[in-house]
Amino acid sequence: KKSNGLYTVSMIEGDGIGPEISQSVKDIFAAADTPIEWEPIDVSPILVDGKTTIPSSAIDSIKKNKVALKGPLATPIGKGHVSLNLTLRRTFNLFANLRPCRSIAGYKTPYDNVDTVLIRENTEGEYSGIEHVVVDGVVQSIKLITKDASERVLRFAFEHAQAIGRDKVTVVHKATIMKMSDGLFLSIARKVAKDFPNINFNSELLDNTCLKMVTDPTPYNDQVLVMPNLYGDILSDMCAGLIGGLGLTPSGNIGDESSIFEAVHGSAPDIAGKSLANPTALLLSSMMMLRHMGLTAHADNIEGAIFATLAEGKALTGDLGGKAKTYEYAQAIIDKL
Ligand code: NAD
Repeated sequence: KKSNGLYTVSMIEGDGIGPEISQSVKDIFAAADTPIEWEPIDVSPILVDGKTTIPSSAIDSIKKNKVALKGPLATPIGKGHVSLNLTLRRTFNLFANLRPCRSIAGYKTPYDNVDTVLIRENTEGEYSGIEHVVVDGVVQSIKLITKDASERVLRFAFEHAQAIGRDKVTVVHKATIMKMSDGLFLSIARKVAKDFPNINFNSELLDNTCLKMVTDPTPYNDQVLVMPNLYGDILSDMCAGLIGGLGLTPSGNIGDESSIFEAVHGSAPDIAGKSLANPTALLLSSMMMLRHMGLTAHADNIEGAIFATLAEGKALTGDLGGKAKTYEYAQAIIDKL
C-alpha cells in the first residue's frame, strides 16, 4: 500500500482475448473506486541461452508488488519454447492452485447449487516432469511427493477453510494403491489437522469423490477439498463443468511471497479482437485477488453487481446465450454498482 492509499498490482493483459477482458476489469475497478493502481507488465518471451523466458522487469514487478492479475498467455508451439505459465509458476513458487466453483444464477446447468472449493498442489506430484526410457518400449514417469510441499499446501488448505468459514477439510487421494506417495500426503494431512482442532478432517478416495460429485455436489458445499497435482487438475475441470464452463471459472495461484490470479481459460484465438469474450472469469479472479489482499468490502460490492447482471440476463455475452459485446456487459455491471 502506498502513501496515497492505493495498492499497486502487476497486470499481465495476456494474449488473444486478454486485452479485451482486462479492459473490462480496469473499467469496472475504476467505476467502483477500488484502491488499485495497475502496473502493466510485458511478459513477451525473450531468448536467453537459446531458451525462452520472461523479461526480468516482469519478474521484478511481481516480486515488488506481490500480487498480479494475469490474462491468458498463448503457449507458443515449437522447440525451445517452454510454457510461460509454467515459468511463472516455477519462478514464484506458486505452490497452491485455488479453484472455487459456484453456480451462477442466470446460467442454467444440471445443478444450480454448486459451491465447491478445491485446492490443488501446484509444484510436484505427477507433474514433476521426471520421465525417462528404461529400455526401448518401456518408459517411467516419477511421481514425486515431498513432505515440505505437501505440508505447505495442506496447511494452506486448513487456513483457507478457516478464512472462508468452512469447518471441514477433505483430502482426496489414492493411498490404497499409491501407499507410499499418497500415503505420505495423507499422513501429513492427519498431522497438520491436529493444529486445527476447530476443523473436521476427512479423507476420501478420488474415484469415490468423482462419483459423489456428479451425483450430488451439494454435500461438498461446506468443505475445502485438497489433493495432489494431477487429481486437482482433473477434478477442478470437472467442477467447472458443473457450473457452466470456461467463461465463468476463476483461479488463484498462491505462493510464499507472490500470488497470481487468473481465469482458468486460455487466449481463445477464435474470438479474439471481436469483443465477444466473456470477462466474468477474469473478473471473478480479480475478486479472489481483492479478498486475498483483505479488500473484502470492495470485492463484495463488485461481485454483487456481477451476479445481479448475470441473474438479470439482459446483457450476457455469446457464450451464455446473449448478444452483448464484452464492453456492453461491463457497462451493465458498472450501472449496477
Ligand atoms: P481456450 O480456453 O482459449 O478456448 C477454448 C474455447 O472456449 C474456445 O472456443 C474459446 O472461444 C472459448 N472461450 C475461452 N474463454 C472464453 C471467454 N472468456 N469467453 C468466451 N469464450 C471463451 O483454450 P484453447 O483454445 O485450447 O487454448 C488457446 C491458447 O490458450 C493456447 O495457446 C493455450 O496454450 C493457451 N492457454 C493458456 C492458459 C493460461 O494462460 N492460463 C490456459 C489454457 C490455455
